[in-house]
Amino acid sequence: MKYEEVYHYGVHELAEAGIGENELDARLLLEYVCHTGRNDLLAHGDREVPEEEKNIYFDLIEKRKTHRPLQYIMGRQEFMGLVFKVNEHVLIPRQDTEILVEEALRHLHDGMEILDMCTGSGCILLSLLHYSNGCIGVGADISGKALAVAEENAKRLKGREEKEKGKFRCRFVQSDLFEKVEGTYDMIVSNPPYIPTEVISGLMEEVRDYEPVEALDGKEDGLFFYREIASHALAFLKGGGYLFFEIGYDQAKAVGKIMEEAGYQGITAVKDYAGLDRVVYGWKSAKSGRKE
Ligand code: GLN
Repeated sequence: MKYEEVYHYGVHELAEAGIGENELDARLLLEYVCHTGRNDLLAHGDREVPEEEKNIYFDLIEKRKTHRPLQYIMGRQEFMGLVFKVNEHVLIPRQDTEILVEEALRHLHDGMEILDMCTGSGCILLSLLHYSNGCIGVGADISGKALAVAEENAKRLKGREEKEKGKFRCRFVQSDLFEKVEGTYDMIVSNPPYIPTEVISGLMEEVRDYEPVEALDGKEDGLFFYREIASHALAFLKGGGYLFFEIGYDQAKAVGKIMEEAGYQGITAVKDYAGLDRVVYGWKSAKSGRKE
């Protein structure tokens, strides 16, 4: 079969199965299998695809037809210009989360110590370390299987082996929130599970049936983890240290209030590119004033 015929077969099968972005997904999977690029469809559509590659492609199309996310099929997702390994044990890094990283980077200084609570694939922590100098980070997650993915990502990206001040630049700890966390930090970042339990059954199949529910479920009102993290983080923040949260589009007010009641200063909401509230942050007051 020719390259473009294989592609059209993929588009047709995915469309029949009700996959919305069928053309994009069919093309990306074909490029993944054949090690080709975007232009091959236009420029080399008439080249023959080896039988073996064709069979692998048909197999992956079958997988995608079940609504398994493309990222889990290919085992990777780009985030902050870096490629992260992903599997069913971690949430797929979202573009929205780049807002959290970008905002945190504006307040991050050389040599700071960072804690990423609910690190999942490690995408937030590892991006912060990649785009800063001399910072040290700890990623905490309740899931050992998620941390195995984070460890692999750390190995492939700047930071794991490099030692700063005699410490690894980055390490991971399996912990139910702060239970096993030690030390104090200049910045705590978190994209915790924040979807109210009853909303989960209405999510798209890709998310509902394949992403880890413990990475999504924010319990009754979706705010459980914000309350827990905001109150306990104070003991793990240095004076003037920042707490950064990613939030759901309708949670800015509620999370701001939780942080205010816990005693944080300078509480600020930041919007994403769609104009929706996406990040809330504040800092722990210090007698010596704000750390800038
Ligand atoms: N920190 C990870 C991410 O943003 C995982 C978040 C989660 O599991 N809720 O992708």
